[in-house]
Amino acid sequence: MHLFSDYHLHPQGHRLQPYSQELLQPWADHARRIGLRDIALTDHDRYHRGVDFDEIDRLRAANPDLKIRAGIELDNDPVHSAAGRAWVEKNWNQLDFVLGSIHFLRGDWAFDHAGEEAEFARRDINEVYADYYERIRAMAASGLVDCMAHLDLVKIFGFRPTNEFSDVLDAVLSEIHNANLAMELSTAGWRKPVGELYPSDEIIRRAIATGIPFTTASDGHSHVQQGGNFERLAEKMSDLGIPEVSIFNRHQRSAVPL
Ligand SMILES: [Zn+2]
Ligand SMILES: [Zn+2]
Repeated sequence: MHLFSDYHLHPQGHRLQPYSQELLQPWADHARRIGLRDIALTDHDRYHRGVDFDEIDRLRAANPDLKIRAGIELDNDPVHSAAGRAWVEKNWNQLDFVLGSIHFLRGDWAFDHAGEEAEFARRDINEVYADYYERIRAMAASGLVDCMAHLDLVKIFGFRPTNEFSDVLDAVLSEIHNANLAMELSTAGWRKPVGELYPSDEIIRRAIATGIPFTTASDGHSHVQQGGNFERLAEKMSDLGIPEVSIFNRHQRSAVPL
């Protein structure tokens, strides 16, 4: 099984860097080098001003052997996400793919940043998980996304709830299914302290049972992170019995057998 699509990439990295061929071509070059044929550029919505659809068209013209999808990762940034949502609505017809994610919890806490372990230790972990999944449900129901990113990101530092969260997860997965969204399998979790795929095997099994389709993703913030650990992900998908992957063109999802 060879995975050919990476649907979570950040050409701008962690700062505003307007799209240009100089910025984007290395992503196409590296994708081709490692056997990717279909990639989605999904910068954080707080950097939407750097996204340029004409530059994406130029990149497509220069790399006709690759499918290059125009996307964005929409989150719940307390400062920027209102403008991000407005931008997604305005540019919906030019976008192929919108990821939905949660990066902020109660008190505008950017919980996944390096060094936030102390705050995890200080808070009530069950409350943190309940807050996180409530926000995930709201994002899934927003009508503005095609796919949920790193669904259990809240485990990033390895803090686990002590309460049972099965019912909450089932409600989240029902919401995702009812909204007809896909869910990504993100290898980023393997390079984070938790050292585990996003989402967990348990969530993946429940998602399969619910009928939710999957994309494959690295969440690369540098072009060399594209397709990271995809051999390992292919093994995992094979073990879990996932025979196909979802791709998107202008928000239209199709399934490709692997
Ligand atoms: Zn994210
Ligand atoms: Zn991301």
